[in-house]
Amino acid sequence: MNPPAHILVLGGTTEARRLATALSGTPGVRVTTSLAGRVSRPGGLPGEVRVGGFGGPEGLAAWLREHRVSALVDATHPFAATISEHAVRAAHATGVPAVLLRRPGWRPGPGDRWHDAASLDDAARRLPALGSRVFLTTGRLGLAAFAALDGPHFLVRSVEPPGPPLPRHCEVLLARGPFTVEGETELLRDRRIDVLVTKDSGGTATAAKLTAARTLGVPVLVVRRPPPPAGATVIEDVPQVLALLRERGLTGA
Ligand code: NAP
Repeated sequence: MNPPAHILVLGGTTEARRLATALSGTPGVRVTTSLAGRVSRPGGLPGEVRVGGFGGPEGLAAWLREHRVSALVDATHPFAATISEHAVRAAHATGVPAVLLRRPGWRPGPGDRWHDAASLDDAARRLPALGSRVFLTTGRLGLAAFAALDGPHFLVRSVEPPGPPLPRHCEVLLARGPFTVEGETELLRDRRIDVLVTKDSGGTATAAKLTAARTLGVPVLVVRRPPPPAGATVIEDVPQVLALLRERGLTGA
């Protein structure tokens, strides 16, 4: 009997979870999800789970060889640029087929008042001109970029408590999506938010804040994504990844 196809999913996203769920139900397939270990209680995942960095592209390549990985799916967050670069390099070094699962970015619609920022630092530079009561949803690890802004009041939402440095006027709201339009509208209104800052994460789990901002006429400062690494095969959704793995005979079905 053939050994099961072993798929390594680089995770930390809703799509990675969906993919692992689909693959773990596929006969002849073994799935391992890799997590960076940033979130202390990531919740149960189907299949096997490993946690922590690999030690650069060479470490990832060694892991692929040692665990006889048949295919690598990089399903990390669109802003996790380093690990995505490492995935391309490790796949190239080992010859393991790899794809990058990247959900599409958000696009503004009629009534949206969006402003682009090229990076978190750029967002911090543009912010004071846009508002003074800020809803900051760019994640706890990027907060340092805003720490020097003494004027605005920040409502910071994150899954885990952020560490220093924090902006001087800062209130932290611990919460994990998905969020509803009703809840987000109420939050923006209650806290008298006059500008929202977000990464262009894409997807539906955290998109409700954009609808709420549109409804209330609140401007949104959108931090644009880093480009995918050169040489990556980019696929936008889980069904397409599953189809490609099947087509290439990598899931044995
Ligand atoms: P990053 O800057 O691209 O990666 C930094 C280092 O963390 C990598 O070099 C790698 O260490 C390790 N790493 C990252 N993802 C890993 C994974 N899935 N499995 C094992 N090691 C991983 O990543 P990040 O922006 O800090 O994001 C870390 C994780 O959080 C990602 O898995 C991502 O999907 C998730 N996440 C990120 C964001 C965001 O906005 N950046 C938002 C939501 C979720 P080694 O070099 O030692 O292998």
